[in-house]
Amino acid sequence: MVEDCIFCKIARGDIPAEVVFEDNEIMAFKDLHAKAPVHILFIPKKHIPTINDLQGQDLGLAGRILGVISKVATSLGIGLDGYRVVVNCGRNGGQEIYHLHFHLLGGRALSWPPG
Ligand code: 5GP
Ligand code: ZN
Repeated sequence: MVEDCIFCKIARGDIPAEVVFEDNEIMAFKDLHAKAPVHILFIPKKHIPTINDLQGQDLGLAGRILGVISKVATSLGIGLDGYRVVVNCGRNGGQEIYHLHFHLLGGRALSWPPG
């Protein structure tokens, strides 16, 4: 838990969020400013700042998050049409919140490349 980290606060239930999945290590909740009909953020409950900080057992946790993403996408009915998973990293990647998160975007055709 990092004191001023908004996603740590969501993971602890200190800040409300529309949670769509939770287990002992992972939480998924709707993005506050959805960029697509489906826009969900998947986080490790543990504070890991960026994808650059993933190492050791946390790499396995990241793999588990990907598995959860595909299950949630399927349960929301976007598995077959497809979707996008995004991890922004650092300044050039457009990362705003420095607690690792995976965006699941879907429910419409997404353009490529991103800006
Ligand atoms: P980033 O740019 O760091 O990859 O993405 C951060 C995301 O977190 C943004 O899409 C933003 O809309 C979302 N976000 C920021 N603050 C909150 C919040 O308090 N609650 C929720 N549910 N999402 C948030
Ligand atoms: Zn955090």
